[in-house]
Amino acid sequence: MPQIKLRRKPRTFWQGERASEYPPLAPESERGTARRVTEIGEPVLHTPAAPVGAEEFGTPELLSLIDDMFASMDVAEGVGLAAPQIGVGKQVFVFDLVDDDDDRHVGVICNPTLTQDFDSEPILRDEGCLSVPGAYEPLSRPSVARVSGFTPAGEPLELSAVGYLARCFIHETQHLQGTLYWDHLSPEAQEDALRQRDENRAATLARRAEVAIELAKPAVTYPEAPAGGR
Ligand code: ZN
Repeated sequence: MPQIKLRRKPRTFWQGERASEYPPLAPESERGTARRVTEIGEPVLHTPAAPVGAEEFGTPELLSLIDDMFASMDVAEGVGLAAPQIGVGKQVFVFDLVDDDDDRHVGVICNPTLTQDFDSEPILRDEGCLSVPGAYEPLSRPSVARVSGFTPAGEPLELSAVGYLARCFIHETQHLQGTLYWDHLSPEAQEDALRQRDENRAATLARRAEVAIELAKPAVTYPEAPAGGR
């Protein structure tokens, strides 16, 4: 007789709150236009982003930026994306990630302040970045983190995370500070990541073009060589 394993169903959380119904593709992503994802070496990725101003919250421009960020993340098959990754130096990141318990976390935060719990058990795990396409390197991160910021409407928002989601929050908030995961690697690992990128970039970008078709989005054009010149 097979062992019966009682297993709860996966849950979806929107902005940290349990959502009873949630579509496979976030509504923001449906509305948005996928844009080119910037690549390592492009100044916007290596410069601290500006905070979203009080007058910008709730505006069509901010909401449209967020739609485009979701669409760009989904076309690139990412689990998180920061605004500088579509060339906008503003403190916003989006995420849509399935964690180690199969729970899905979807959301967006503006002007996040990151608290990493350095007393939590660090986890060594391969990490990648849409802006270093096709490369993965092991990187140790705290297993617990918290971000405090604002919703796109300007309401205060605080999100706690463990494991893979904590890694995502750390990675994305650091993008807004002008820091890539790549910056934390040893010189040897940095070199290896760029080697992997050189090897896999074309296939990774071809895959993005395929996904764009699947999602009925206009294709995004990438230059032959990385725009960042690295
Ligand atoms: Zn990244």
